[in-house]
Amino acid sequence: MASSLALVYFPRALPAAPPVVHWAWGVGSALLLFVSLVAHELAHALTAQRYGIRVESITLHLLGGVSQMVEEPSTPRAELLIAAAGPVMSFALAGMAFGGRAVAGGPVSVLVLFGYVGAANLVIAVFNLLPGYPLDGGRLVRASLWAWRGSFDWATRVASMIGRVTGLMLAGFGAANAAAGGELISGLWLVMVGIFVHQSARAAGRLAEIRERPAPVEVEQIEEHVA
Ligand SMILES: [Zn+2]
Repeated sequence: MASSLALVYFPRALPAAPPVVHWAWGVGSALLLFVSLVAHELAHALTAQRYGIRVESITLHLLGGVSQMVEEPSTPRAELLIAAAGPVMSFALAGMAFGGRAVAGGPVSVLVLFGYVGAANLVIAVFNLLPGYPLDGGRLVRASLWAWRGSFDWATRVASMIGRVTGLMLAGFGAANAAAGGELISGLWLVMVGIFVHQSARAAGRLAEIRERPAPVEVEQIEEHVA
């Protein structure tokens, strides 16, 4: 991450600066990206905590993260606010970075860094708002469906289906873009994101199906009966 920033992004953004600046900015902006992702996930976690839901762990990946909550939110309202907290935080950070760039007025290298952080947070917010459950956008869809029909399991199933369709559409759009020859890298990248969204939605839907089935009899219970 830091090396692609240092070798590709900053040499393009700051062609006059020496490589040492590209590397310093590459490492610095990778750290800022990391902080941005943590802030996004912390916003989810702190909101979840307000609703009495413990967050066991936070896993970060390239465009976001997953807050592993020990239980599902108990109301659509809680789900909605927990899901919205992350993108709201990312939009706020993007606004602060772009605002900082506007008022900083310093050397161009500083402005480029502000611009990078702003753009990165904007991408994080928009990506996570894709309506593919279990992404934040998909959770917002589920919360709305849940509030509408009152069934958590039905809402999860429909949100999972919408997520799978969203993933396939993204992948298809990316593939078409790559095939057209214009944007090969970003096209292929979109295919990967689409497959990721599709697979996550499918896995989340399966999990909901398993939860819906009657709980299997525990081995201990059987033993108790035998004894
Ligand atoms: Zn999020």
